[in-house]
This record gives sequence, structure tokens and C-alpha cells, in this order.
Amino acid sequence: MSAIDVFARMLGPQHVLADPAETLPYGTDWRGSPARAPLLVVRPGTTAEVAAVLRAAGELGLAVIPAGGRTGLAGGIVPLPGERPTLTLSLERMRRIRLLDAADMSLIAEAGCTVEAIQTAAAEAGRFFPLAFGAQGSAMLGGALSTNAGGIRALRYGSARDLVLGLEVVLPDGRVLDDLRRVRKDNSGYALRHLFIGAEGTLGVITAASLRLFPPLARRETAFLGLPGPQAALALFARVQQAGGELVAFELLNRRVVELTLRHGSRLRAPVPIEAPWYGMVEIASTHAGAVLRPAFEEALAAALEAGEASAAMLAENEESRAMLWRLRESTPECTRHAGPAVGTDTAVPVSALPGFLQAVAEEAAERWPEGRLLALGHLGDGNMHLALQAPGPEVPRAVWQERAGGFEEMVNHLAVAAGGSFSAEHGIGLSKLGPMAAMKDPVALSLMRAIKQAIDPAGMMNPGKVLPAR
Ligand SMILES: Cc1cc2nc3c(=O)[nH]c(=O)nc-3n(C[C@H](O)[C@H](O)[C@H](O)COP(=O)(O)OP(=O)(O)OC[C@H]3O[C@@H](n4cnc5c(N)ncnc54)[C@H](O)[C@@H]3O)c2cc1C
Repeated sequence: MSAIDVFARMLGPQHVLADPAETLPYGTDWRGSPARAPLLVVRPGTTAEVAAVLRAAGELGLAVIPAGGRTGLAGGIVPLPGERPTLTLSLERMRRIRLLDAADMSLIAEAGCTVEAIQTAAAEAGRFFPLAFGAQGSAMLGGALSTNAGGIRALRYGSARDLVLGLEVVLPDGRVLDDLRRVRKDNSGYALRHLFIGAEGTLGVITAASLRLFPPLARRETAFLGLPGPQAALALFARVQQAGGELVAFELLNRRVVELTLRHGSRLRAPVPIEAPWYGMVEIASTHAGAVLRPAFEEALAAALEAGEASAAMLAENEESRAMLWRLRESTPECTRHAGPAVGTDTAVPVSALPGFLQAVAEEAAERWPEGRLLALGHLGDGNMHLALQAPGPEVPRAVWQERAGGFEEMVNHLAVAAGGSFSAEHGIGLSKLGPMAAMKDPVALSLMRAIKQAIDPAGMMNPGKVLPAR
């Protein structure tokens, strides 16, 4: 029996795609890494079906790539040419919220639920699921956990990993690891779930997760500020941590990012005159509906203006203007793409090292690529900046610019690591960071990772060629 017949019989023919016109979209992610169609795409609807798919894939000698919303930025779902044909296993049909316990502050969701669907389910139960980022409407839970997504509220609530109480994972041999705990304390041996979080589909398929919920944020105040520079942004960061309420987000953007977003975005307007070199977006919040945050926040912003930590400030007047500010922030990845190809990075450094790091990058980039445009945006509170060098215009072909600005990524990664940071803060390794992984990751860590891969996936069928560089 052919592979297609095996899976069609198992799942129903409507859940097996073989036509390249249908499978090709499953062979690339948002960054637009060169697409390669997998041999087949299968869409199981239950954990038992995922297990059956993996067992059959092992017998047929197929490589398996789990796919979620395909919003990843590291090429994690792109099939590689090799001896083994690829089966892409999409979790898109597994979207049930299996359980929501408001008293326990926990929820069990299947891997195909979008991050936004989980936020909504929690909100409907009077609870809050804090994971949030621009792609949350499409990114799925399994993908968010497999890349250990960070986003705008990691500052207060941690990355995806910190929100997980337990996991259900199908192992490459079809066994199901049922670790869907809901307790907050469980020291019964190794915390296996953490192996699969951030593994980018190289160790198994996450089919469901038990997640932590929080009390909803009843009051929020959001401000957009013009800033003289990263050092001033740090001073402001320290100030707003004591401005009452809890600091839940502190985003940093350079002027070019803001200009491009205002130019290409829809339903946006400049919150402050675009005259400063840097911009910050700050949100403080309280779970107490009666909390009065605004006067203290206004006072803190006025003091920041007075101290020269900010040059302009706009405090959202109402829910509509708050939503506009977040729309502006979330539109930045899409809007900056219009202005030309770019070589991007995903670094984190200790927050205190950010100003020196950003200055070193700007100086070296100006010297080596004077025609390039530096884009900087990120989550200042986590020291996580996405720095990109963009071609002078959209007419420059992507391949030409990647060749010309090729050393940019290496330069930024080295500066980040030298500052005590990471070359992969929140997007993962996938294909795009294999180079720095080989060059900069601690060799002992790499050899432990290889041993774990060998123990769990001895046939190397799960997402081969990703995360672990070839020896
Ligand atoms: C506009 C935009 C903004 C973004 N902002 C942020 C941000 O602020 N912070 C951030 O961290 N990321 C951000 N991202 C990146 C991206 O959204 C995240 O990495 C997201 O978590 C990926 O989820 P996905 O479902 O799309 O995964 P996919 O792209 O489908 O897959 C990503 C990786 O996970 C693996 N995988 C997927 N599902 C499973 C599963 N069930 N079991 C095992 N492995 C699996 C895949 O094989 C692949 O290696 C952004 C992306 C875009 C497009």
C-alpha cells in the first residue's frame, strides 16, 4: 500500500494532502524561507491518531515535521532535501479546550488552538492567559510551546515555558507521554516537559498542554514615548517599575521602524511627533478594578520628561487609543517588510548591557554597510532586541542583499554573546540559526542535546536537520 493510502485509510482521505498546490504552503513559514513541498500533509484529529501517524511514518521511513500556524521565523517547518521523504503533521484540527478550571487557575488546551483562542477562552471564564505577540491570531499552542515564544508580556509573566503546568506529547515511536499535570508543585523526578518545550518538533509532537491562568488585568494605562536613546530608556524603565501598578510591557523601537509602520500600516496615526531617534511603549496594569493608576503614571511620565529620559509622551485616553497603540506595535513586522529585504537577528542581552550593545551594533553597521538601514525593535524589559539591516530600497533583490549584508547577523550575534547574551532569544534555531548554534553554543550543551535526541528519537525521524547542527 502506498503512503498516501495508509494515511487516507487511517484519517480519511480529506485529511491527507498530496497535491503540491496544497502541500507547498505547509513547506514555508512567515519569514518566507524558500518553500519545499512535503510529500504529504496529514491532519490528525486526536492524540490517538497522531500516535498512529507517527508509528506508520516510522515504518514507512518518513521524516515528520509537526506544523502549527506556520508563523515561525526560523524555518522550523521547512522540509529538507534528503534521503527521507517528509510528512508534515498539521495540528490544525486539534483545537479543543479540554478543560478550564477557573478555581484552579488552569486550562488544558489542544495543540491546534491558536494563542488568541486560548486568551479568549480564559477571558470568558474571568481569567487571563498572558502569552501575547503579533502572530497570536494564527500561531498555535503547539508551535508557541515548541519555539518557547516570548512576546510582549514575558517581562511580567515569563515566556511560554513559564506558563506550562504539564504536557501531552506523542513520542516518535507512537507512545504517549501523559504528563498533563495541573498541580503547581510536582518534583517527581526530571521535569520532562521542559525537554519538549523549545524543541521545535525534534523530539516529538506536543498534542496538548495544561496551562497556568492568572487574574484578569482590570485596569491598564498605556503610554507611547519619544526617547533620546537606549540609556534614557533604561532610566525610564527603572522609573516606571515604581509608578504604581505592575509593569507588564516595555517595548523599544527605533525611529525607522516607527516611520515605516506609520507609512504602511492601516488605521494608525503618530501618537507623538516623530522627531526622536527612539520610541518606547509602556503598559502598567492592576488586577484591582478600583485601582487608580493614572495619576501616579502621569506623574512618573512628567518626571521622565523633566529628567530628559523622554522627549514626548502620549498617554492613551481610552480603550480605542490604547488599541491603536498596540496595533502600531503589532504591525511593525509586517510594515517594515514593505521597505525592502533585510537580514534579521533575534538577540537578548542583560538589560543593563543594552545601550552599549546597541551602540556597538549601530557603529559597526554604519561603518561596514553605510547604505544599509538599521531596524531595531524589541522587548526592552527582557533585553530582547530584533535588529535587522535593511536594503536601501525594495528594488534590491533579496538574494543580492543577503549576500551583501551577510556578515551583519554574525556581527550582531557575536556582540550579543560577548555581552553575556544569546543569539536566539525567542524565535528558536530552526534552520536559520544553525550557523551560530554550531559556532557559539557551548560544546557540552550541544553534546547533551545530541544524547537526548538519540535517546528519544534514535531513528532521527523528527524534524531532521533542525536545531542540532550537522557534525
Ligand atoms: C508578525 C509576527 C510577530 C511575531 N512576534 C513574536 C514575538 O513577539 N515573540 C515570539 O516569541 N515569537 C514571535 N513570532 C514568531 C512566531 O509567531 C512564534 O514562533 C510562534 O510561537 C510559532 O507558532 P506556530 O504555531 O506558527 O508554529 P509553526 O511556525 O507552525 O512551527 C514552529 C516550530 O514548532 C514546531 N511545532 C509546531 N507545532 C508543534 C507541535 N504541536 N509539536 C511539536 N513541534 C511543533 C514546528 O515543527 C517548527 O519547528 C512572531 C511571528 C510573526 C509572524
